[in-house]
Amino acid sequence: MLLGLSTILRTPDAVLPFEASLDLSDLKFGSSYPVSEPVQAVGSVRNTAGVLILRANIRTVLHGSCDRCAVDFSREVSYDVEAVLTRELENEDEADEWTFLLENDHADLDDILTTAFVLNMDSKLLCKPDCKGLCFRCGKNLNDGACDCRPESDPRWAVLGQLLKDKE
Ligand SMILES: [Zn+2]
Ligand SMILES: [Zn+2]
Repeated sequence: MLLGLSTILRTPDAVLPFEASLDLSDLKFGSSYPVSEPVQAVGSVRNTAGVLILRANIRTVLHGSCDRCAVDFSREVSYDVEAVLTRELENEDEADEWTFLLENDHADLDDILTTAFVLNMDSKLLCKPDCKGLCFRCGKNLNDGACDCRPESDPRWAVLGQLLKDKE
């Protein structure tokens, strides 16, 4: 979706609200496609002293299999994003991933919101941010409670092991 900005480009403090829906169902993350539901974005572009600032909230429900505990999950994610829209870059150093060029006074919302969504995604697909994962010994899902395995890093066992080794 292209958002025409000519009405606010030359008017300080002018605001243009927008709503958009993105289809990112073919966005591959690891080996899965977790964005099977539309991504909804609500926001506005404001002319702040001649600089166009886009602010938006983007949200969707992810569906996937947790990278840590392997449980299938659905989880709502919501990100607040802010980006700078500019007609030209004054120098290359200004360019960062949150600066977008306008084309003929239009902002390419699909491109901007897709980039913002991907930049905000976690590097792993987790059922919840603090997923405890599985015990690597017995395989119990530690989100359901601790297991009975002895902690691997009990320092007494390391000392004992060292003593036995010295005897050999
Ligand atoms: Zn998990
Ligand atoms: Zn265990």
